[in-house]
This record gives sequence, C-alpha cells and structure tokens, in this order.
Amino acid sequence: MKKSTFTHFIAILICCITMQLQGQEIWIDTSIHRGLIELETDYSFKTLVSNDSLKTQEETLRNLNSAKLYFDKMFQTDLEFAVLFIENKAWSEYAYFPPPGLPQAGNGNVILGLDKSVISKEVEKMIIQLPEHYWSSLKPVYGEHIDLDLFYRETLSIHELAHLYHFKQGTQPQRKWLQELFATMSMYSFIKNKSNSSYEIMDTYPAFVIKSGDRMAEFKTLKDFEEKYVQKLTPQNYEWFQIQLYQNAKSIIDSGTSDILIKLLNFLINTDLSKNDKLSDSELSTRLEKEVGKEIADILTNWKNK
Ligand SMILES: [Zn+2]
Repeated sequence: MKKSTFTHFIAILICCITMQLQGQEIWIDTSIHRGLIELETDYSFKTLVSNDSLKTQEETLRNLNSAKLYFDKMFQTDLEFAVLFIENKAWSEYAYFPPPGLPQAGNGNVILGLDKSVISKEVEKMIIQLPEHYWSSLKPVYGEHIDLDLFYRETLSIHELAHLYHFKQGTQPQRKWLQELFATMSMYSFIKNKSNSSYEIMDTYPAFVIKSGDRMAEFKTLKDFEEKYVQKLTPQNYEWFQIQLYQNAKSIIDSGTSDILIKLLNFLINTDLSKNDKLSDSELSTRLEKEVGKEIADILTNWKNK
C-alpha cells in the first residue's frame, strides 16, 4: 500500500469510528443527566430522578416497561432510552421545554414530572370552577379530588415513549400531525391491548374535552398545526388538536388493521425530510393511501376545518 493510500485508509477508518461513536452519543443525550440520581430498578432502561425522596414513579415505570416490551416486539427492535423524573422547580434545568411536568421526549430521553404537574394543577382549577354536573363524570376515574396527572403523566408518558421509536431514525417528519397520530395510535393500541385497566384513564378526559366543544381552539386547520405546533399555540388549542387526532387514532385502531402502526412508522422514517423533499398535500395523500392505509389519507381529506 502506498503511503498516501494508507493515510487515506486510516483517515476513513477513523472517520467511521468517530461517526459510530457520535451515533451512539447522539441518540441518548446524557448532557441533561448531569446532577440527577440514578435509581436501581428491575428494568433495562436507565431511570434518573432529581430527588430520590419523592417515591411517585413506580407505577409509571411498570407501565413504561410493559409498553417498551409491546413496542419492541411490534417494531422488532430493542430500543434504548432513559427516563428522567424531574421536579417542577428543577424543570427548566433538565427538560427541553415548559410547562413543568408535561411529559416530553427527545434524543433518547423520556422526561416526566416527579411532583404534581403544573398543567394538571391549572386544568383541575379551571374544571372545578364549572358547575359540578359538567365534570362529575371525571370523578369515578380520576378520584373525588380529580387527579389529572393520571391522564397527563400515566397516559401521555406512553405517547412520548412511542415518539422515540421514530425519532431514533428521523426527527423531521413530513407533517407534525403524522408523528402525533403515530404516537397516539401506539399509545392507544398498547393501553387497549395490554393495559386495559388504564383504558378509562386514557379515554375519559378526552371525551370530556370533546363534549365541551371547540371554543378553546382559535386555530383549527392542519396547516395551523404545522405552522404553530407546541410553541405558538395556547396549551388548550394544542390539546384540542391532540384530541382530534386521538379520536382518529381510536377509530383506526378499533377498526382492527393490525399492521398499520408498523407501516406508519416506516413511512415516517422513509419520508423524513432529512433525506426527502417535502411532499405536497396531494402527493402525501396518494402515498399514505398506497403505503400506509386509506384511513390515514382520509384524515387529511376529511379534516373538518379547512
Ligand atoms: Zn407527541
């Protein structure tokens, strides 16, 4: 081997090793683990807390582990990730964005509240100001004093975990609503099939929000959702979109097409904007119908607010 060829070969080799190391580092972002306490658990994923005297995470961890086993089997992988439980007062130090306690996921981390989430406190306060007959349906599910963390943490943590299965291979979906639909369909499928005792916790609060109508939503088109997403919509308006997607997810999974989640995951990954041009709505609709299922393309066509 000539010297220059050898140098070239070594350069390529070093480059490959570095890329591989970077790939591993990039997936689980450990920079936000600094200062947290690691808990010993029976599970394969790492669990970190900002305070180990608050013991509120056992049930959530058990659910996350069952969901991991369910998703791993379905998507034929063994996903590595870390779960972080953060107190509200430390939220801004560790989480990617506010509000404190609202589940979020990114870069291999699922970030959850450790104490009562700010979002639950605010929504509960709003609800109990209404005449009791409006919200009495919540009591049998969320307790006499209405604990919405059962919904916001126990249920939505599964939605966030599902996001990591596509984030691992692409974080720029053709449309945000598609990735939200995927996470919600995955959550719904898991809870319906493997954690049915949580079904009412997942389903009752959305039903309550739907019953109260559209008045909390200033923006209602899918285009609005793409443009504004989390940061530029009020929490109530963002929730309105999520609940519309929940209704769609529910009817798609209930109709029983078994492999649709796998197809949707592959579609998100294969059409990721890091490797593809943006599809127009009509191109997207055609490809969704062909590659995933007509019921997904129909959401785009039938969205009632144009
Ligand atoms: Zn989401």
